[in-house]
Amino acid sequence: MDTAYHNPELLKRGKAPQRYRGVTYIRPIDAAKAAVPVIDLADRLTGPCGLRRRGAEWVGHCPLPDHEDKSPSFAANAEKNVWYCHGCHRGGDVVALARLAWGYSEREAHIAAAELLMEFGHELPNRPKAWYRKRERQVNIRNAIEETKKGIVRRRLFRHLILPLIDTIEDEDERNRELERAWADFERLTA
Ligand SMILES: [Zn+2]
Repeated sequence: MDTAYHNPELLKRGKAPQRYRGVTYIRPIDAAKAAVPVIDLADRLTGPCGLRRRGAEWVGHCPLPDHEDKSPSFAANAEKNVWYCHGCHRGGDVVALARLAWGYSEREAHIAAAELLMEFGHELPNRPKAWYRKRERQVNIRNAIEETKKGIVRRRLFRHLILPLIDTIEDEDERNRELERAWADFERLTA
């Protein structure tokens, strides 16, 4: 857990490059921290009028999906560029907020950082391959679900609309030929 918000020592240390797995991960994380202010992401996550000014801080309901925040426990400090939630006791920099808000693990911080950069219209410093792979997998699964649903609808329509017509053909061979042709046509036309 990152408690940089309350601990000035940690805050200072946070400025030094952190160790992540692999050199390529560091760049999107550092780039996101430099490009996206904590307050901008907090503002987007909490929605319009989600944050109110209280002294040096902006306070609102915690935007993290696993914290049902009844009282406004979330605070972001624009000057220090950090956030902390007094309800779920989590805090840190903009990448930590993005990661927790979008459900990425600590090892996936670089993916959250890349998404953060894209979300706020910044160029990616390099290509985080894992992010693309993950995106691609999600798109493939969505497409597969759509195709499966289409197939079910298509077969049901065929059974109810077309089959009764073919069933009236008395000759079995002709009926089977017609069935094949009709299904091929139907599949092509409803694709
Ligand atoms: Zn919270």
